[in-house]
This record gives sequence, structure tokens and C-alpha cells, in this order.
Amino acid sequence: MPFVSGFSKSKLTPSAIKKRSHQACIFLPLCAFMDFIGASGKINLIAALGGSSNFGTLSAKCCASEPSPCNQITEAVTFSAVSFIMDSSTWGKYKFFTYYISNMEYEISDKLKNVHGSAIREIFDLLKKGNIISFAGGMPATQTLPSKQIEGILQNIISKYGVIESLQYESTFGKALLLEQLKSFLAEYKDINTELQNMIVLSGGQQGIEFMCKTFVNKGDVVLVENPTYLSTLQIIQTYEAKAVGVSSNNEGLDLADLEEKIKTHKPKFLYTVPTFGNPTGGTYSIENRQKIAEITAKYGVMVLEDDPYSQIRFEGETVPSIKCFDKSENVVYLASFSKIIAPAMRIAVTVANPAIIGRFNISKQSTDVCSSSISQIVVAEFIKNNLAEHLKNIIPIYKEKRDQMVNCIEKYFPKSFKYQIPHGGMFVWGYFDDERDLLACFKDIVNLGVAYLPGTHFFPDGSGKNTMRLNFSNATLEQIEKGIKTIGEYFGNAQ
Ligand code: PMP
Repeated sequence: MPFVSGFSKSKLTPSAIKKRSHQACIFLPLCAFMDFIGASGKINLIAALGGSSNFGTLSAKCCASEPSPCNQITEAVTFSAVSFIMDSSTWGKYKFFTYYISNMEYEISDKLKNVHGSAIREIFDLLKKGNIISFAGGMPATQTLPSKQIEGILQNIISKYGVIESLQYESTFGKALLLEQLKSFLAEYKDINTELQNMIVLSGGQQGIEFMCKTFVNKGDVVLVENPTYLSTLQIIQTYEAKAVGVSSNNEGLDLADLEEKIKTHKPKFLYTVPTFGNPTGGTYSIENRQKIAEITAKYGVMVLEDDPYSQIRFEGETVPSIKCFDKSENVVYLASFSKIIAPAMRIAVTVANPAIIGRFNISKQSTDVCSSSISQIVVAEFIKNNLAEHLKNIIPIYKEKRDQMVNCIEKYFPKSFKYQIPHGGMFVWGYFDDERDLLACFKDIVNLGVAYLPGTHFFPDGSGKNTMRLNFSNATLEQIEKGIKTIGEYFGNAQ
């Protein structure tokens, strides 16, 4: 095709495309459309016209199931997307607007060029391809998502709250009606008594981790994390060109001597921790450990980001106060998300911190997403007020049953060299083989058997922990848990 030879792969730089856009604007629509239309029946052409009455944006996406002229195009040059602005009065005036071709060389920023995609996201893509039982993600059970209650709230949301409250931009800090509900939620469920000036609504807990880095971290800084820690936090720290350094842990929580030592050595910007039903370990720090973390970090003027998405999913044992409850120096930034206890699709979380930090988060948020969705904020506010208490009563037994099933199946099917602790809440069982087995290397074999776990090495800042794995029990059914754990157990039993 003329445009294929005219734009050979080596010449496909943004400036080359720009220079030759005139040529492309003639060839591309003609070649593409003649072939698309000529191979009708084998090709899906999805066209959407929009914009003003004179101009339309037309997007075309092609996929052919059999060899066809169109396949020659897609084989020679893979289209990811083709879009151009069309003057509807004449074909000759097409203006080539955007033209993406795979393998094009883009110059990625220094910030991002060494950041790899999240292992979980990549595994999700792999899992979508087959009928695989997944213990890899961290998704809530579909049966716990409160679809009926949310449908009820959404049904009359606009007539009840009005167009502006429901559909307009909102204050970056969050809606007053949600902040009021959050204040009561924090007092009742988290034992945190705070004021509106200490809070900001975020679009998910992940945004809080990002804002902590955006606000405090410079290139080359160190952030301390529990070893192992939530893998997306490692990704965010890397994005800000900082270094994550792991602090060891024990049955009580963080190893306090190691924490103090690492603070003195690295002068970190902050400590990131998930102290209740942690991700990935499922572990919970003791009360004394929390108190000491607050004291040690305050002594050295180190900030703490306390991430708490799981503490309401408790199956047994006494509730423990957050590190924030011991925060006398206002160095602790506390983060609670509603993804696991209402629904991830709400994308709502809250940060509690000193107003000076909240003000900085507000500035960070202005340039990121302006404000969190008004509709989600109203839904979460209504849900906290009317449904949350009962909803938690309903979902905890469901997760406990899944946890029990996973633990019983591990006992039954896994080799005894697998060591793990039974989590008292949350969504994960974390374990390791006491020989030096490489669970990253085995991962593809196990996926080929129809099951996935998450290789634990992804959670270690230094890439160690090759013999560890995280097993999520919240999303699979009881039958899937039995079948999947049996498959993994038999593989490792045989592979000993
Ligand atoms: N922190 C931890 C520890 C998590 O496990 C997750 C979700 N897996 C998040 C933050 C982000 O969750 P969200 O943005 O949905 O609140």
C-alpha cells in the first residue's frame, strides 16, 4: 500500500509523520476505506460521528477474521487506532489528525521510562485469555458488591440532589455532605475524631499514595516500606524517581530496631505501611508496635503514610487502633478507601492529616483530576449513612468462609514445606516455601494448569522473596478455591 511504503518503520517518528501528513491525509482514508468496504462481511467498521455540524470525528477500527486486503494492512502496519477530522463537505479536505502505529519509537520521559507496568495488571491481561482460577488479584467478591442498594441510590439521585449537586464540578476537597458522613465514619469505625479541615476526599486510596509522593518526594529520595509491601506503592515511588528501602517485620509488626536504623541511615521522606491485614502479608501490627512507630517517626521527624483499606474486613480478634490514633506530632497521614467495603468502582477514599498537608494534597489533586466524581461522592455518603453497617455484617461471613476454605485446602493439598500464617481479616494469605523454590519461575507452568497466584517477589523493593507467594481468597468461589489450591498443591508436591 502506498502509505505503508511511504512510512517505513524506520521513518515513523512523530516529526516524519507530521511532515508527511499531507500525503497521509490523502492515502490513509482512501486505502483504508476502499479495503474496509471491499472486504465487507469480514470486517467490523465502527464509525462514530460527532462534533459540530460541519466537522465530525470519525474513528475507524478494523478487525478481520480471515485473510483479506485489510489483513495485509494490519499485518504490515498494525493499527491501534486511526482518527481524523473530517470536513463533511468534501473527501479531498480530510485532515490527518492522529495516526498511531505499533512499534513507533516514542521518547518517554526520564520519570517514566524505567517504570514497568504493575505485575497484577499484566497478569490480569494474561488471565482474561483463558478460563483460569485466579488467586492473583485483590478484587472483592462480586456477590458482596451492593448492586441493589447502589441501584436504589442512583435511581432518584438527580431529582433528589439536583443537577448542580449531582453533575457539576465539585470542590477539590470533596462534597460537604460526604465530608460530614466521613467524619462520623472515621469516629465510629476507625476511632479517629477529626474535623473537616483535616480531610480531603480522594479518587481511591491509590491517589493518596501518589499524592504523598507528589507532595513530598524529590528525585533520589528514600521512602521506607515494610518488606514486603503493596506493589503499586513501589511502582509509584519509582515513578517519582525515588528509592524504596524495605524495613523487616516480625510477628509484632515492623522490626523497630531496623526501622530506627534505616531512618538514621537513609533519612527517608516517609514510611509507607499497611498495618492492618496488610497487603500482601495479611498481617496486623500489635498495639504497642503502632505506638512505637508513631514515637520513633516523630522523634526523627519522618512522615508516615498509614494505608488502611482492609481493617473493616475482620473475622476474629479485637479491633486495634490505627497508628494515627497515637499521632501526637501530626506526622501521620492516614488513608481509608471504600473500594473493599463498598465497591472499587466508586473510586472514593479519604485522607486525614494536618491541614497544611491537606492543603498540599488539594493542590496536587487540582492538577490531577480537579475533583472526585460528584455522583460517586453522593452514593458513598448515602451508603455510609443508610447501608454500611448492615452491609459489613453481610459481607464479613462471606469472606470468612472463603478464608477458611483456602486455609483448609492449603492444609489438605499443599506440601508441608509451605509456611504461612492464618490472616484474621483482609483478603490475602501470604506464604513461602522453606526451600529456595523460585515461585516466579513456576508461575507460567501453573497458569498453564489453569490457576494463578501472585509471585511474592513483586512485593519486595529489592526483588528478593523468590520463594514467596500471595494467594487472594476474596474473589474465587468456594469450589474454585478447592480446585485451584489442589492444582497448585499437587504441582508443588510433585515438583519437590
Ligand atoms: N492500598 C492497598 C494496600 C491496596 O491493597 C489497594 C488496592 N488493592 C489500594 C491501596 C488502592 O485501592 P483503591 O485505589 O481502589 O482505593
